[in-house]
Amino acid sequence: MPFMPVDAQAAHPMPSMKSKPCPHCKKTGYLNGHGYLRGYGDGTDNHAVRGRRIYCSNRGRRGGCGRTHSYFLASVIPKSSVSATAIWCFLSLILAGFSRRVAHKKSLAVNTSRRIWARCVKAQGTLRHNLCTLAQPPPTVFVVPFLQVIRHLVDAFPLASNPIAAYQSAFQSAFL
Ligand SMILES: [Zn+2]
Repeated sequence: MPFMPVDAQAAHPMPSMKSKPCPHCKKTGYLNGHGYLRGYGDGTDNHAVRGRRIYCSNRGRRGGCGRTHSYFLASVIPKSSVSATAIWCFLSLILAGFSRRVAHKKSLAVNTSRRIWARCVKAQGTLRHNLCTLAQPPPTVFVVPFLQVIRHLVDAFPLASNPIAAYQSAFQSAFL
């Protein structure tokens, strides 16, 4: 599923919709905003806005297919209630030298650290492959291989306040 630009808010109009083809029927010119994609957010909110729903209009004489698709906010991790902001906070603390236990306490909800870390480690091959298209791998060798990936992520998006959101928007691919 695609991601919105890194600085786009859910309430912003999506100006390029009319020039984009529908992913279902491939026709151009019939896409309209169709409300929000909602689901779990940080904490207990299960109606948090996670993105935009887009409708390929077949109303009236419009020639679309009538189906919908969605764009995630760049700060949303698909299939996870943990936000990219919280995960970035966790990873940046680890990169700064904090232990996983301490970084977890400062950034993530209870019982999420092990699961998030496992997903990070599992994703590292894809992450490294994509990041290599933007920046050289860091020369430093870290004891924990995933730290190298976090360093690489920072090098690839040096100006981003949230490099995970920047990654998702740039590669149109989930970080985890
Ligand atoms: Zn369509």
